[in-house]
Amino acid sequence: MKFENIPKTHAEKIFGYIKDVDKFYSFVEEFNIVGVHWSEPSMISASYLLRLFEEGASARARGYDKNSQENDENSTDMNEFYYPLFDHCAMWRQSNGSVLCTAMPYGNPEIIRDNFYKMINKYNYPNTIKMQFLDDKFRYRPNGDHMIIIYLDTSLEEFDPNSTDEEVYRKAVQHSASAVMRSQAVRNSFVRDRYVSEYAKRRANGYCQLCGSPAPFFDKDGKPFLETHHVIWLAEGGSDSVDNTVALCPNCHRKMHYLNLDEDVRTLLKVAESMR
Ligand SMILES: [Zn+2]
Ligand SMILES: [Zn+2]
Repeated sequence: MKFENIPKTHAEKIFGYIKDVDKFYSFVEEFNIVGVHWSEPSMISASYLLRLFEEGASARARGYDKNSQENDENSTDMNEFYYPLFDHCAMWRQSNGSVLCTAMPYGNPEIIRDNFYKMINKYNYPNTIKMQFLDDKFRYRPNGDHMIIIYLDTSLEEFDPNSTDEEVYRKAVQHSASAVMRSQAVRNSFVRDRYVSEYAKRRANGYCQLCGSPAPFFDKDGKPFLETHHVIWLAEGGSDSVDNTVALCPNCHRKMHYLNLDEDVRTLLKVAESMR
């Protein structure tokens, strides 16, 4: 699926769908959106939609064929859900490559929710595919009664300790989701994502990322003992993402929670943002 790049300003001059540009950019910022594909997924197959959620923007359409009536990019799968669910829909590419879908359907929330679960059941989607009603502050056009978002919630995915560095990196980036997209339970308890914290530790490679000292001891598995820390605290609205997570020795971790000096915060943010 091709995504059009979103300009830093004046997107309303390019995209006629945008009626409230401030709300549009609030949405873009909150969800780290970099690209858009208008008017999907009401025309693609149910299986391609699922692959886009699970594999991200690089997921390829299969069996695309101009002569065929039914294929990944030209399907009637979603016809019955167009009005109750996908009206005014768009697909969005996030900066980490993940894909999500928004729509502005008409009707009351119960009916919208029912139709979402009907679609989930009909196409056997896993329970990691979630739907949420979004705040009106993101409603960049007046159409529809509600703005909804459909997305892959990775926060319940089980951690596999045998993952390679490559897998840890890929999942940590994929899991570095907007707080809005984490399941309610996970959000409220400030549970951190195992892949994000594992990635921070592997990136630190046994050395505290503040003082540079080696980890003070090795754990039972023979791994250097470091603690992961959110530079902007979750309680202060920081995100559980690779660019906000570092690995520290216990002393420095204590120091961050006790003093949280501006210069240390700046140093650690730089470390966290320098991906690998
Ligand atoms: Zn340290
Ligand atoms: Zn901490």
